[in-house]
Amino acid sequence: MTTRTEASAYCDGGYISLNSADRLPVYDPATGEAFDCAADADAADVDRVVAAAVRAHRDGRWRSLRPAERERILFRFAMLIDEHGEELAQLETREQGKSINVSRMLGAGAGAEWMQFAAGLATKISGRSFDTSLPGGPTHWTTFTRREPIGPVAGIVPWNFPTLIAIWKIAPALAAGCTLVLKPSETTPLTAFRLAELATQAGVPDGVFNVITGRGAVAGQALSVHPDIAKISFTGSIATGKRIGRLAMDRMARTTLELGGKNPAIIAADADLDKVVQGMGLGAFLNQGQVCASASRIFVDTTLYRPLTEMLEAMIQAMPVGPGSNPAATVNPLASRQHQARVRAFLADASAKGATLVAGARVPDTGFYVEPTLVLDPADDIDLARQEVFGPVLAITPVASLDEAVARANAGVTGLAASLWTSDLTTAMQTIPRIEAGTVWVNTHVLIDPAMPFGGYKQSGIGRDFGVDWLDPYLETKSVCIAH
Ligand code: NDP
Repeated sequence: MTTRTEASAYCDGGYISLNSADRLPVYDPATGEAFDCAADADAADVDRVVAAAVRAHRDGRWRSLRPAERERILFRFAMLIDEHGEELAQLETREQGKSINVSRMLGAGAGAEWMQFAAGLATKISGRSFDTSLPGGPTHWTTFTRREPIGPVAGIVPWNFPTLIAIWKIAPALAAGCTLVLKPSETTPLTAFRLAELATQAGVPDGVFNVITGRGAVAGQALSVHPDIAKISFTGSIATGKRIGRLAMDRMARTTLELGGKNPAIIAADADLDKVVQGMGLGAFLNQGQVCASASRIFVDTTLYRPLTEMLEAMIQAMPVGPGSNPAATVNPLASRQHQARVRAFLADASAKGATLVAGARVPDTGFYVEPTLVLDPADDIDLARQEVFGPVLAITPVASLDEAVARANAGVTGLAASLWTSDLTTAMQTIPRIEAGTVWVNTHVLIDPAMPFGGYKQSGIGRDFGVDWLDPYLETKSVCIAH
């Protein structure tokens, strides 16, 4: 098999050289040094790779396989992801910066299970038969629906969980019988290529799963407007998601948009603060807060505001700092220099506008680190309180009542996820329906599972991933009416 070069894309079951001579450096966030490159594909390169996915769709080499055969190949693919978990985790930590523990658990480790879950759905695709009220007489009618793969899919993936989120695009598309062109972020392009190699090894036919790298504004844009792409499955920022959605609408391409959130944690007066602090360690600071569902604003009953702030301050000051390759370190670098600057700009703006910042463990000057930081009682109208910071930053606001907490939690334009912390079942059950979010956790935050649908209310996106209906957005419904 040909191996990857800095100029290649994965297309038709192997590497091809691209037309574009430009390269994008891949940085190690722990040092700030470039250690690899990936191709910066142009629109002509995108055309070539999409053409392979279109050929593979049209000739039926994948969608016409027996479902049990597709399922078996995808199970094999899941097993290979699992077997190569350590290698994928090392690569993810190198290019993304996160703790090796997190790369192991939430990279290939979890990814293999998501792939397994979707593989099982390949044999559960079914239409319906139904009786119609068409005129009777000598003619009889048989009517039913078929579910058919929608066509070539573009998967556009961000840089926060490059392996897992890539699998969230690959798994449902392939289980449904679609073909796929995957575009990883230019920040983290490397694990996607290994996934493509493993897919080929598992028996996924050539051309069914292809990978192209390049800048979002060029390769991503070319994929989004491509007339032969039937569906775009995107995870990333709200701004880019809206742009892709608008472009897709021009030609009625389908979209699944999993966008960001400004996710609240609501702490009732009877909450167990030890559990809250432990939960926020993961909920707010996992992967340096570079998690779409991460808790970024706490609304806490005023009686608990001071003790909670002190406990969280103690926690962030005790967090061990270091590169992702050090398994003991929980404060690791952010994914890129640009993102580090973006997070610091939010903090500088909040400070300039009167918010009190409490910094945690000190971080090195080299690498893309940002101190874990608490922001005390920020004004509701500053950027840090309204927009997704996507960093190790947690705002804490005292509130006089649960009603006030819910009202302020619901006030924004997003609604991806929220958590509620209470010891009282009635409070929990009566508050859950009032929270405008696609996922509500009670006494925990950020845990997800392949069986649990995930997606956003309001501007946090359109559609749901995971769950038993995961393949639906990758299938068209065809009604068949037979007169006999
Ligand atoms: P983007 O939404 O711009 O990037 C996400 C993906 O979209 C990347 O693969 C990117 O490619 C691609 N992309 C960018 N522009 C286009 C385009 N015009 N057409 C098609 N694809 C495109 O996020 P950013 O990296 O700019 O991050 C900004 C903020 O977005 C973060 O600070 C965070 O708040 C939020 N975000 C949310 C994520 C989530 O999980 N919901 C994930 C990532 C970011 P490339 O990277 O190569 O430009």
